[in-house]
Amino acid sequence: MSQEVLVLNSDYEPLNICNMRRAIALVFLGKVDVLHEDGHSFHTVSSIYTAPSVVRLRNHVRRPTPQLKLSRRSVLARDNHTCQYCGYRGTDLTVDHVIPKRLGGKNTWDNLVACCKKCNSKKSDKTLAQFGHPLLHTPRKPKYVPFISFTKFVNGSRNLIWRDYLPVFQETNPEFVTAERESMANAAG
Ligand SMILES: [Zn+2]
Repeated sequence: MSQEVLVLNSDYEPLNICNMRRAIALVFLGKVDVLHEDGHSFHTVSSIYTAPSVVRLRNHVRRPTPQLKLSRRSVLARDNHTCQYCGYRGTDLTVDHVIPKRLGGKNTWDNLVACCKKCNSKKSDKTLAQFGHPLLHTPRKPKYVPFISFTKFVNGSRNLIWRDYLPVFQETNPEFVTAERESMANAAG
């Protein structure tokens, strides 16, 4: 039982991703309702249960508004691990300063983009105009800051069941443009 389980607050805010053992304990303690099962079953001494995939806390947990740290990992996650110049997607990406540091470009959300090594070495110290490649997306600070780690959040949005419960970065993941707020509202109502 090594699968991960998405934990939602009582208002459907994604709170955490925990392991199956912890999720099952929450179910048995009556602290959560299971919203989705993952289809696998597990046995206890007396019964067979279906493993949860998404659970929702019965009592609301108050959390301070999280701050999203600007980091290489969070920039790569925001850009969906896709080079913002050529569209290459992979795990070997680096981060490029759109306005080069040499010209005063800063370490900010709107000046950093995911970039493959090829484009990075071609762009080097050039400006966008000199490089001649438009950006796939205008880089911005993500509006939505998840409680769960940003990387986990973005990876979690690839889970078809979880996706309905995770707010979407429409700027960077156009394929995920679903009515996620509506589906959350429907689920809540
Ligand atoms: Zn590239």
